[in-house]
Amino acid sequence: MSDAELLARHRAVLPNWMALYYEEPIQIASASGRRVTDGSGRSYLDFFAGILTNAVGYDIAEISDAVRAQLDTGVLHSSTLYLIRSQIELAERIAGLSGIPDAKVFFTNSGTEANETVLMLATQYRRSDQVLALRNSYHGRAFATVAITGNRGWSASSLSPVKVSYVQGGYQYRSPFRDLSDADYIAACARDLREVIETTTAGDVACMIAEPIQGVGGFSSPPDGYFAAIKEVLDEYGILFVSDEVQTGWGRIGEHFWGIQAHGVTPDAMTFAKGLGNGLAIGGVVARPDLMDCLTANSLSTFGGNPVSTAGALATLEYLLDHDLQANAAKLGERLIDGLRTLAPAHPIVGDVRGKGLMIGVELVEPGGTEPSPRAAVALLEATRSRGLLVGKGGLYGNVIRLAPPMSLTEDEAEEALGILAESIAAVDAEVRA
Ligand code: PMP
Repeated sequence: MSDAELLARHRAVLPNWMALYYEEPIQIASASGRRVTDGSGRSYLDFFAGILTNAVGYDIAEISDAVRAQLDTGVLHSSTLYLIRSQIELAERIAGLSGIPDAKVFFTNSGTEANETVLMLATQYRRSDQVLALRNSYHGRAFATVAITGNRGWSASSLSPVKVSYVQGGYQYRSPFRDLSDADYIAACARDLREVIETTTAGDVACMIAEPIQGVGGFSSPPDGYFAAIKEVLDEYGILFVSDEVQTGWGRIGEHFWGIQAHGVTPDAMTFAKGLGNGLAIGGVVARPDLMDCLTANSLSTFGGNPVSTAGALATLEYLLDHDLQANAAKLGERLIDGLRTLAPAHPIVGDVRGKGLMIGVELVEPGGTEPSPRAAVALLEATRSRGLLVGKGGLYGNVIRLAPPMSLTEDEAEEALGILAESIAAVDAEVRA
């Protein structure tokens, strides 16, 4: 079935608010490594799959074999009321990697559920419904997670079971403190946090939740050390700190395994999802044992931690550790950022090139200033696609191009992508300035 036929059927039966990329949306009909093929047989280098689902790459034999071995037992799933070996093994691995002493892990099916879970734990532990989040954040699409999402374009509902106050810091490029030095920026944000706690919340805040690098928010982040200063203030008030690692975990940022480690902070809990399953539905929370065990009523997730997802996730984790994909992300991320920063000065639509490892954002602006240019981002998405490269879009104003290829990216593929990006940016720059 052609992609055009599928689109017509999609539009008829799926909600209008399900966003689709491209003027002529595509299906991913097959894939291997870092390449995907659409319904018409056209091949693309996939520079966005990495963040969404494929941390490691498509069609990786070790992962497919682990999933197949589980399918061969005949047990896709039974119930989380029984012991599941791969769930236990995966929890042990994640707890060990978390840096949180004696950590415990709870599995869900998505990042949204993971964040809902951690909010339930924190509000129960602290007996408070007060939560702090960052402006420009994205944490999910259920009631509480929408409420802590500070990006109106993705906040589907104004109803909320928690009371949220937003603080400054995540998006340095468009911050009111933008022109300050990093040290002064961090100090200003810490002051803002203290002021919000003292004057905006009702006191006794349960937790603060934050993405170390904001994903949907356009791969924006505060300077290293920001979260250390923030954590110091939170500790004074006994407020728990949760790092949402749904996009930043598993070595993607290159220099560290978890995004928050760049700030030298050990959080009370972290949430994860997306890439861990390399395409299988999985999410979860890793937390201090007293926080994890603070619930008194029974609770479980029917499919969270099922044998197929956890077998695949365990194989994904082993693969990315065995092949040291974190080091690959650091090396190729640096090459991509250098390449983009080299070509940026010739193109006034490029306002900012930022990121760490294989999590790279290119913020597009109207020529001659810093006004966000969503039209340039839409044009660049189409321009790269027509040249055989899939990239992501994001940002508070929809004006940031996001690059997040699978962490098994090769040098040749990085150069190929840079070539396409150079051509596409030049074409869009000329178009926008015409
Ligand atoms: N947290 C972050 C940082 C995310 O980027 C996302 C998804 N974009 C979520 C949570 C929600 O994850 P899911 O879509 O799996 O529910």
